[in-house]
Amino acid sequence: MRKKIIAANWKMHLTMDEGRALVDKIAAGAPALREGWQVVIAPPFVHLQQTAGQLAGQAFFAAGAQNCHHEAQGAFTGEVSAAMVRSAGAAYVIIGHSERRMYFGEDDALLARKTDQALANGLQVIFCCGEPLEVRDAGAQNAHVEAQVRAGLFHLDAEQLGNIVIAYEPVWAIGTGRTATAQQAQEMHAHIRSVIAGQYGDAAAASISILYGGSCKPSNAAELFACADVDGGLIGGASLKAEDFLGIIAAMTAA
Ligand code: PEP
Repeated sequence: MRKKIIAANWKMHLTMDEGRALVDKIAAGAPALREGWQVVIAPPFVHLQQTAGQLAGQAFFAAGAQNCHHEAQGAFTGEVSAAMVRSAGAAYVIIGHSERRMYFGEDDALLARKTDQALANGLQVIFCCGEPLEVRDAGAQNAHVEAQVRAGLFHLDAEQLGNIVIAYEPVWAIGTGRTATAQQAQEMHAHIRSVIAGQYGDAAAASISILYGGSCKPSNAAELFACADVDGGLIGGASLKAEDFLGIIAAMTAA
């Protein structure tokens, strides 16, 4: 049975003290989780060791990074490698977020290399895909997302795919307050799962977790998570407030 996952993407928010206080509140307020449920908190790099330490005793919680470099090491001033992320105590890394694609020019080939580095260093990858508004308006979203998934992931073997989580994040819904409807999310998640099935078979497709991201909040999480192919969420803005993030975790445990 595939995991249900709620992942927090703090982006470039919160000082160390603010981050520590937020994790404390989430840990204190979280419901007891069980096998098959996972909560990931992905703070900025400088928080990673602190966040991982705070979550060490918290069952089914893990820390994650928001990015890693595509080379193992070297003269890349200001960059952070997958090995460093792992050594800071993180278990996950987000790869291919639309903000990385848009503002840092990360293309499919580069994201495939980042994915390889992450897997080689024992990290689980939350691989993001999603279409911009003009692609959705043209009705070409399925082909767009399928191409991202193929280019980023289909060089992996079946065992490697077992360490991948996919996050479908329509770009027009990220940080805009405009959420995909449950039907739009379900249709895309089912499409992604069928694309995985075509390449890796039905069992692999049935066991990969596919998260929804884009203005997910406590008020819409339950409806989204009730969809057959939506296995949780990647949460931006609402992960910065303990009450909101706890509300979304509660929606996962109730789904
Ligand atoms: C995100 O950045 O991954 C995201 C889903 O952001 P928000 O929840 O703020 O739309």
